[in-house]
Amino acid sequence: MEVIIVGAGIGGLAAALSLHAAGIRSRVFESASEIRPLGVGINVLPHATKELEDLGLLPALERAGVLTREVVYVTRRGEAIWSEPRGRYAGYRWPQVSIHRGALQMLLYDAVRERLGAEAVVTDHQAIDVVQSAGRATVHFQRRSSGVPLPPATADLVIAADGIHSALRARFHPGEGPPRWGGMTLWRGTTIARPFLSGATMVIAGTAKTKFVCYPSYGFPDGRQLINWIADVATKESDFRTVADWNRRGSRDTFLPYYAGWSGTLLDIPALVGAAEAIYEYPMSDRDPLPAWTFGRVTLLGDAAHAMYPIGSNGAAQAILDARTLAFELASRATVEEALAAYEAARRPAMERLLQAHRAEGADVVLDLLESRAPGGYADLEAVLPYREREEIALRYKKMAGFDLQRLNESPPMTPGRPG
Ligand SMILES: Cc1cc2nc3c(=O)[nH]c(=O)nc-3n(C[C@H](O)[C@H](O)[C@H](O)COP(=O)(O)OP(=O)(O)OC[C@H]3O[C@@H](n4cnc5c(N)ncnc54)[C@H](O)[C@@H]3O)c2cc1C
Repeated sequence: MEVIIVGAGIGGLAAALSLHAAGIRSRVFESASEIRPLGVGINVLPHATKELEDLGLLPALERAGVLTREVVYVTRRGEAIWSEPRGRYAGYRWPQVSIHRGALQMLLYDAVRERLGAEAVVTDHQAIDVVQSAGRATVHFQRRSSGVPLPPATADLVIAADGIHSALRARFHPGEGPPRWGGMTLWRGTTIARPFLSGATMVIAGTAKTKFVCYPSYGFPDGRQLINWIADVATKESDFRTVADWNRRGSRDTFLPYYAGWSGTLLDIPALVGAAEAIYEYPMSDRDPLPAWTFGRVTLLGDAAHAMYPIGSNGAAQAILDARTLAFELASRATVEEALAAYEAARRPAMERLLQAHRAEGADVVLDLLESRAPGGYADLEAVLPYREREEIALRYKKMAGFDLQRLNESPPMTPGRPG
């Protein structure tokens, strides 16, 4: 069987590696003229590091990122709301790794070229259409830089991993339009600085309307770290200026005033933001869930299938899980049709639930719950928001996102033929 993968992002590259491990040949077509390490920080949660371990990539992943030790939720005044250990520190068999998105993408890209060959990833090929006949699918391309048409490519299956603006998703849902803006704007950046707290802590501070998230994603030999931060601010409709472009530059002057009254939040936000190398502005957007991901011999994967708000550190992890599930089913089922049906059954309802949970703030809802009960601060946290309630919020989210501790630790590998 031959597979075409459209998009060499996290999901597309993970799919190529997973198919290779399952003995299935694939080629990846990417619209960018070269694969460059773009983006800022992302997290790979234990359910996805498990999969990267099965692909033999965990040591490289651990070297390229930071093993997250804990997540700490605080108010804008710095009062503790909730904290929990993460990854192996929480008893998982696998770590949680905070990493620069570009470092993760390059790690996957290098592995694809090493295992599948240098010609397995074809750049400057923007997919513009797909047609099907007799159980085969043909993708039409153009050069993104010039719009010049390129020769089409045909395979038994096409995996559309072309991100939140997926051209192939639009082909099957022509009326869908642009991503749906959720009323928040994210300013994202990285700053090289001294470690804060444990040196491997993710801080989530504020409320849904003005949030600040911060964690280290790389450690330099001199002891400093690449600190990733996200300022997450509710924005008026009239201020909405931009399409969902991950690379659009932003200015600190636009959002820093929202953090003026913050005190003692464990972080010096103006200093951190002031020393940032680059700042990116992104409208927090998602897409409505789809009734189907598979259309004959074409199926969707990653953000193309289920673009959701970047809450809960799940975007990259879920794309990796899609890739692993799809490859496993293709290698295990009698027909491609059966495999695609099994892939969708395993992933689509779960991603619809997670997408909806992110619209309701995911586990970060604990911030707003506390704010609504004690807007001016509190003397006794237990009286305002009991431990059991906070724990329940965290547990519910982990179950929904698929990294419930016990279930994950007991789950079998998704590499065909590998014993548990
Ligand atoms: C440049 C960039 C920067 C990002 N930065 C961050 C970040 O800082 N933090 C964060 O949480 N998430 C970021 N993301 C999103 C994050 O990578 C995804 O949410 C997640 O990893 C799921 O990955 P994916 O493979 O489904 O999509 P993506 O990682 O978005 O990959 C999609 C790939 O498809 C390619 N592509 C798009 N259209 C076509 C086409 N028509 N034909 C061929 N190829 C096409 C894109 O160039 C891209 O390489 C970024 C995405 C991109 C593309």
